[in-house]
Amino acid sequence: MDSPRILVLGANGQVGWELQQCLAPIGEVVAATREGQYGYPLDLSDLSATNSALTDLAPDIIINAAAYTAVDKAEDEQDQAVHLNAELPQLLAEWTSVRTVPVIHYSTDYVFDGSKQTPYSEEDVPNPLSVYGQSKLAGDKALLEMARFPFIFRVSWVYSARRNNFLLTMLRLLKERDELKIVDDQWGAPTWSRDIAQTTGLVVHALLHDSSLSERAKGLYHLSPTAETTWYDFACSIQEKSGIECRLQAIPSSQYPTAAVRPANSRLNSDKISKVFGLRLPHWERSLAACIESMERPE
Ligand code: NDP
Repeated sequence: MDSPRILVLGANGQVGWELQQCLAPIGEVVAATREGQYGYPLDLSDLSATNSALTDLAPDIIINAAAYTAVDKAEDEQDQAVHLNAELPQLLAEWTSVRTVPVIHYSTDYVFDGSKQTPYSEEDVPNPLSVYGQSKLAGDKALLEMARFPFIFRVSWVYSARRNNFLLTMLRLLKERDELKIVDDQWGAPTWSRDIAQTTGLVVHALLHDSSLSERAKGLYHLSPTAETTWYDFACSIQEKSGIECRLQAIPSSQYPTAAVRPANSRLNSDKISKVFGLRLPHWERSLAACIESMERPE
């Protein structure tokens, strides 16, 4: 394949933006965003326009990094969450069901209820506690049932140097406040969007250069750093690495009520992707340090 065409949906998101950079050496990246600022305008809530765009573009591989990710707002905006997180993947599943085009999609730790005491594997049965988790699970199911070559990467606690996320919120609040209370009874692994994008790029490269791999390796993968932590410890690490003075206090989730219930255990066992593709994410603290450094010294 000379210059494969790689379609990235949601190319302005935390993961989508990093994908644009990581995929550039691999092929022609068509970066679709609502506003078209990276070349291709596409409102993904218009499923008919999206279907036509897929046919016009005829991509060799599709990566869906678009989603409705406002976890708490989703409790009140169920239709929008379902539209983006379930109906769009359903369309991608149908479109790719009759074509040899692999589709890579991202899922979430929030499909689980968090009651398990050890990290979740791909075989564990989901039981989402929130509208967001339910809508994402419906998207996973549609792709796994219908797409010819689905690749679903379940990720957790994503942060980046752009947009809205826990890292950027902490960096702002640490400067604004003398004291911060942070939840200490939810366990998971913070994941830099660049690590997700780089891993995806390596998988894309492998799929495009081995035509039998799509059939052999298709399926669901957990993709999470090996070590785990709590939001409180994540905040402490952000404070330490950024050197901002502020008192941090650990609190239970019961003292920080949110519209959507989060799982207490968000840990994902990533052995499968390591066995099949030989890929593993760096320790979360190493990536956090690299991300903060990239913000302090923009390239
Ligand atoms: P972001 O919220 O950063 O990005 C989502 C992208 O989807 C945005 O660029 C947004 O566009 C785009 N989008 C939403 N609706 C439309 C629309 N109607 N038309 C066009 N584009 C649209 O998400 P992340 O990068 O954080 O997440 C990537 C994936 O990882 C998602 O599948 C998410 O569910 C999953 N995930 C994320 C986690 C997290 O902590 N963030 C945790 C676990 C899983 P716009 O810029 O215009 O808003």
